[in-house]
Amino acid sequence: MSSKYNVDEQGMYGRFGGAWIPEMLQPNIDNLKNVYLDIINTEEFQKEYLELLKDYVGRPTPLYYAKRLSEKYNTHVYLKREDLNHTGAHKINNTIGQILVARKMGKKRIIAETGAGQHGVATATVCALMGLKCVVYMGALDIERQAPNVARMKMLGAEVKAATSGNQTLKDATNEALRDWICNPEDTFYIIGSVVGPHPYPDMVARFQSIISKEIKVQFKEKTGSEYPDYVVACVGGGSNAAGTFYHFLDDEQVKLVAVEASGLGINSGETAATIALGDVGIIHGSKTFLMQDEDGQIVEPYSISAGLDYPGIGPQHAHLKDTDRAIFLDATDQEALDFALEITRLEGIIPAMESAHAFVVLTKLNIAPNQSVVITMSGRGDKDMSTYMKRFNL
Ligand SMILES: *Cc1c(COP(=O)(O)O)cnc(C)c1O
Repeated sequence: MSSKYNVDEQGMYGRFGGAWIPEMLQPNIDNLKNVYLDIINTEEFQKEYLELLKDYVGRPTPLYYAKRLSEKYNTHVYLKREDLNHTGAHKINNTIGQILVARKMGKKRIIAETGAGQHGVATATVCALMGLKCVVYMGALDIERQAPNVARMKMLGAEVKAATSGNQTLKDATNEALRDWICNPEDTFYIIGSVVGPHPYPDMVARFQSIISKEIKVQFKEKTGSEYPDYVVACVGGGSNAAGTFYHFLDDEQVKLVAVEASGLGINSGETAATIALGDVGIIHGSKTFLMQDEDGQIVEPYSISAGLDYPGIGPQHAHLKDTDRAIFLDATDQEALDFALEITRLEGIIPAMESAHAFVVLTKLNIAPNQSVVITMSGRGDKDMSTYMKRFNL
């Protein structure tokens, strides 16, 4: 879809985006940039992609009218149930798409970075499905903290390589993956997990996640008879589930787009991941965007209770949506998200991912009228967060 909010010919979203990469990566990026649209837009690709989404992932995911939540907040709340996808979150929409591109390009080996392990699991899953070799880079500290996901990736046949530089977390894993790609340009494809990184990744990932808003449009019309919800809402880490939730509404200016970032212990606590609230313009992982940095331009370590939201940058499209005031940016603290996680569970019988719970602050932070409707993307399920919930709720 062409929209002034989508990427332009130069790979830019307004003043954000682009491909700010070492010269040695240029051939890989150029190669991908030159072929990705031609591959994705073929009938053959679309057929296989949509079939896999249907029979393997379980799409379309339902748009569920949350009756008790709606009564409590005196408005109409609909949940887009990405938590019901195979592997438990939206990430698989993207990894299925990218692995089909990789295969079409003749690549035999897949690499990925992962923080909490969710993108690593989604990548290892599609590699098993396609019979391709998979190497996942993960910070050494994250490997220790996320043992169940490490075990899942190994069971799926992936090799998990520890990144031992820096703070030994996501940022370091990403650097290792980029290094690997430079060394193995011929046979290797790098599957990035969010709408971040150099062009064309943010655009490619947004296209694969756009299935979310494509379905919302049809389902909302079916359910309500009206064309547009008043609000569509999603949490943002890098911003892929939000980009997918917004995509087909970008030019429907009467629909308010709301993104919720994680403010951890509070915006001014020093322990936060509220990139839009605190960040300024810089370059991270090959893309110009807002990021949290100190006076010397060093990236500030982010913090959030939800591993999927503690990224120090944000996808360039979201930076542009902020610049143009097309989207509203809110933030939720750990405590606010925890309170919502328990409330959603008790009112609807749905245990949300810690990340997804952040999005629900829209119900208390904006003045939504009783006759209005709010679609909130439930990006994932809470199974992976049970140890956090057990501790925080004394279960
Ligand atoms: C990874 C993850 C996120 C954050 O990633 P985005 O790219 O911002 O969507 C949110 N929710 C869940 C369940 C995740 O696994």
